[in-house]
Amino acid sequence: MDRRHFLKMSTASAVAIAASAMDVPGQGGLFRAAQAGPMPPGNGTGSMGATEVTSVCEMCFWRCPIVAKVRDGKVVKIEGNPKSPVNGTRVCARGNSGVQLLYDPDRIKYPLKRVGARGEGKWARISWDEALGEIAHNMKKVKEKYGPHALAYFDHGASAENMREIFQAMGTENFTSEPAFYQCVGPAALAYLQTVGYITTGTRQFNDMGNSKAMLFVASHVGENVHVSHVHEFITGLAKGSELVVVDPRFSVAANKAKIHLAIRPGTDTALMLAWINYVIEKGLYNKEFVANKCEGFDALKKAVKGYSMEWAARICDLKIDDMKAAIELLAKASPNVNIHPGRHSTWYGKGDVGRHQTYAILTALFGAVGVPGGIYFPTAVKTGHSEGIEESLKKVAPAKVSLKNDSGYPFSSVFGTVTADIIKAINTGKPYPIKLLGVNGVNIIQTIPNPYETMKAINNLDFIFCQEMMAGETAIWSDIVLPDAVYLERYDGVYAYEGLTPYLTVRQPVVPAMYECQPPYWIAAQLAKHLGIDGYHKSVEEAIDEELAGAGTSIAKLNKEGGIVTYPGNPYRDAKTLNVGTESGKIQLAVEAFADEDLDAVPKFEPTPVPPTGFARLLYGRSPVHTFSRTMNNLWLHNEIPENKLWLNDQVAKRLGISMDEEVVLENQDGKRSNPIKVLVTPGIRPDAVYMAHGFGSKSPHLSRAYGKGAADGFLITETVADPFIGATSKRTNFVRIVKGGKVLDIPELIPVPAELPKYVLKNA
Ligand code: SF4
Repeated sequence: MDRRHFLKMSTASAVAIAASAMDVPGQGGLFRAAQAGPMPPGNGTGSMGATEVTSVCEMCFWRCPIVAKVRDGKVVKIEGNPKSPVNGTRVCARGNSGVQLLYDPDRIKYPLKRVGARGEGKWARISWDEALGEIAHNMKKVKEKYGPHALAYFDHGASAENMREIFQAMGTENFTSEPAFYQCVGPAALAYLQTVGYITTGTRQFNDMGNSKAMLFVASHVGENVHVSHVHEFITGLAKGSELVVVDPRFSVAANKAKIHLAIRPGTDTALMLAWINYVIEKGLYNKEFVANKCEGFDALKKAVKGYSMEWAARICDLKIDDMKAAIELLAKASPNVNIHPGRHSTWYGKGDVGRHQTYAILTALFGAVGVPGGIYFPTAVKTGHSEGIEESLKKVAPAKVSLKNDSGYPFSSVFGTVTADIIKAINTGKPYPIKLLGVNGVNIIQTIPNPYETMKAINNLDFIFCQEMMAGETAIWSDIVLPDAVYLERYDGVYAYEGLTPYLTVRQPVVPAMYECQPPYWIAAQLAKHLGIDGYHKSVEEAIDEELAGAGTSIAKLNKEGGIVTYPGNPYRDAKTLNVGTESGKIQLAVEAFADEDLDAVPKFEPTPVPPTGFARLLYGRSPVHTFSRTMNNLWLHNEIPENKLWLNDQVAKRLGISMDEEVVLENQDGKRSNPIKVLVTPGIRPDAVYMAHGFGSKSPHLSRAYGKGAADGFLITETVADPFIGATSKRTNFVRIVKGGKVLDIPELIPVPAELPKYVLKNA
């Protein structure tokens, strides 16, 4: 087997291992079932006579184990499962507010059929049989006319794989977990996989912050990006004395806790990382024994980074050399118990995104922080059984003759599913073949895929689109058929095996019966399978889950008696002498030859991304701590906490423009696209060359009565994207805005000089 083939194979197996954590499409289902079963009896009676039922939260993808308290048939409270080794009794604001998702009067209650134009949001109520019959009819018709690959599927979330398998069984290769991969962790996943041999950023992140002596965060918004156990580990590390370095153009929550905050020029993070790597090598601050015995490519790395001096980086990054040196020396002093955190959302600038994450993995390896307390740790697999489903139907699927997935032009994309942007492009151009039908499940693609104007154009080019949702966001109002999904508190989903420091096994189960005419995803998939003549749904959901649990020596009934969770001993650390990672040679790759084989850089280079054109600032976006993007904007309790986003604007810039705190403005991007009105937060906590807003606000769906029109949607200002050349993930920080106040366009002054090496973005009409 040649090396390239080996690497593709090993990538595929590593992805398979991480599949449950990452929702990577095409890796097989957890379970399939013919119909929803009876309610579980509950785990016992708790305080004030409430029945307590253990389950798993899905207010975000982190999936914290929970206990729901049910009284008189209604969920009255949600807490963390005290037996959970990761969150204990804790849930975040969103976890607590699952009650309000369940009882939100704006929920989609019945199957709906579009009666107005796409995007108008006018529907008629129809029966399930009619809705599924129409979907099946259109799937068959499109397949017959254009071939199986004219069907495509975007999904996100725990139960999406049920419907994903239906699309696979119809013969298409075009399904992708969006936005979890190509608009989020894709570049990070590939960089770590090729450098240290495994994916450290899936649903969970294998970062041992709680035992670290120092941590580095590069624009990672932990604290605003709230995932209960992760934030807890971060805080535990800080409480135990871990020293924090934060690199961020903005004074974020994490920066607020930092010993050193480097307010870097946006787009220059890789320059800083390469200069630090060079400094660590030149000053001999790396772990020589670890590098000599466990790493390959050191000489190539040393040679490649030699030109990146601290003086050069200070100019490029607009930082002080003394601060940069103090930060890297602080991190080096803590090695090997140092946590170089990869962040989560890694699709920033397109071209350099994989390389930037390579630099984090390289610095981790230079410090020997692999498989040691405080560094990145190894997941411990939890053994479960398998429940046979529609595998026989999947075996009959013929491979594509012209493959969008395998011949994407991005050499490392194919094992992760068809590239999101390629699917949109194929819909809009008909090349390499037409895509004419789209299924969407649990993701608001108009809000999450960059350049919503292209997405809406694509929807208009489709013969048919349907979605499966709980709340009617933008994608629902553009769909031909809308299927009402059961909320996570109303359904079984499957077995969750968590591979972290203390591994555990748990199950999502219904806490109350599904309301209205909502149905769980496996029921929907099974009924659609019947309409399509796809065989394989012969079991109840409980039977399927029990078959999987049997492999771990337990069952739903047993789990319920034992508090809903079984824990196992973890094996996160390794003896450096016997460390063997999942790369071809078993050694950490400081220079990735597989990249060089594809004419990509084995060691990352700094490739500058254009700086803002005159009169504009870079648009940065992030998360609100009480929201999961557009998904939670309509939730009563969460909306009351933070109903709208604000535009962070540097105080000096605001003064020059005559803008005061809470004044309402509109943003206009480099292509002339304008936002909803947004209030301004005047602050010294952001650089003058950037503005910032939290993502997910500014809903354009009138069916979300609380969220509609509140704040501005950053996505509608993201019209310029750059694809990363490794996997085709699309950038989201390559757009620029200026301010419109009272109808007048105000140019943002350039208060910080830009070095000549950094090119300016050229306006299309310049
Ligand atoms: S982090 Fe919060 S929203 Fe996410 S799963 Fe945990 S409790 Fe639920």
